[in-house]
Amino acid sequence: MPDPVTADKAHCWHPFTPQDAWCDPKHDPLMIVRAEGVWLFDSDGKRYLDGNSSIWTNIHGHCRPEIAEAIAKQAATLDHSSYLGLGHPLASELAEKLVSYFPEKTLERVFFSDNGSTAVEVALKMSFQSRMQTGQGDRTRFIAFDNAYHGDTLGAASLGGVNRFFSRFRKLGFETEFVSSMNDLGSVDPSTVTAVVIEPLIQGVNQMRPWPEGMLAELRQWTEKHGIHLILDEVMTGFGRTGTMFACQRENVIPDFLCLAKGLTGGTLPLAATLTTGAVYDAFLGSPENAFYYGHSYTANPIGCAAALASLGIFEADQVFGRLPSKIDHLQSALRRLWAEDPNITDIRLCGLVAGIEYREGLGLGIVESARSHGLITRNILDTVVLMPPLSIIPEEIDFAINALRQTSIGIQ
Ligand code: PLP
Repeated sequence: MPDPVTADKAHCWHPFTPQDAWCDPKHDPLMIVRAEGVWLFDSDGKRYLDGNSSIWTNIHGHCRPEIAEAIAKQAATLDHSSYLGLGHPLASELAEKLVSYFPEKTLERVFFSDNGSTAVEVALKMSFQSRMQTGQGDRTRFIAFDNAYHGDTLGAASLGGVNRFFSRFRKLGFETEFVSSMNDLGSVDPSTVTAVVIEPLIQGVNQMRPWPEGMLAELRQWTEKHGIHLILDEVMTGFGRTGTMFACQRENVIPDFLCLAKGLTGGTLPLAATLTTGAVYDAFLGSPENAFYYGHSYTANPIGCAAALASLGIFEADQVFGRLPSKIDHLQSALRRLWAEDPNITDIRLCGLVAGIEYREGLGLGIVESARSHGLITRNILDTVVLMPPLSIIPEEIDFAINALRQTSIGIQ
């Protein structure tokens, strides 16, 4: 077998990665070969706590037998068949399950795709097309928030407010007006807007910045008043991260579109879902020309659906929401103590089991790199170190992660 690092440096191209530094002969990349619970194991057998849930995907810990068994069973029964012109029972069951989290006759249709970007892309295109088919062709613009991140496909990227990623693509994609808060909406002409897109409760890629309490409910009132669709991007916040199954439930908001991905399969397989209302769905009826001509080869992949159903089953079997409040409390109290002790930390932003730990300017990358030698893997966003462990984490493991940050920072002082 070829040396994996040599082959990687010769042929692989990593996302969000300056490749010259990656391929530098002095850079010795970690190769992860195994995972169990909250732990990742490298090719030397060393274990690391998965401090960002493998880029915000993992929910119940790695390699959960219930999910692994569901995947294996499905792979041996029906691995894949097209969802164009055919159905399969697991997609039906999963759609029914997803809409069951919301009151009847609200979010009642599910469109499957592959990842967070496509979940958002689908919502944007559905909102846009629905206007053309309901006599509202003037509503062609979107509103998004400064520093938002909704994914990297072109439509989703045009709603992205993180300039260092998206400014070079600004001329492409949807016409979008960026606002920074509810106050800015006063100066927008609502009559030409089809939808507002927001990450509810907290902006993830914007260094884990929570919105003011009540803002989501206020935004919902504004969109309803002006006949504008509300698209909630729960790609990061969905599946318990903020303390409830979906962040919108915290402010009793039901959107016109709900975008789900990352944690949908418990963090095992790429699968996404865009939930929408009967009113939106109805705009695509009446003639074949009105159909939604969009899809991917692996739409509603049966193995992904099996993983998602198994993951949703674990929420109930493990009584995840009964256990979550004390874990959130443990994490947040421990982080506040760490902040009080560590002069390198300048701020801590918290939302459920999601934390952004702000370090002094210029320290972010060094902290996450050095934290590996103390057994913690996570990522920084500029000088914000993300701590977003799987919901299955136990208090001792939370203490381990925080201690790794403490030891790392002492080494840097
Ligand atoms: N939306 C939000 C809020 C995200 O945080 C992300 C990814 O981090 C995405 C969309 C894009 O998801 P994906 O990377 O699966 O395309």
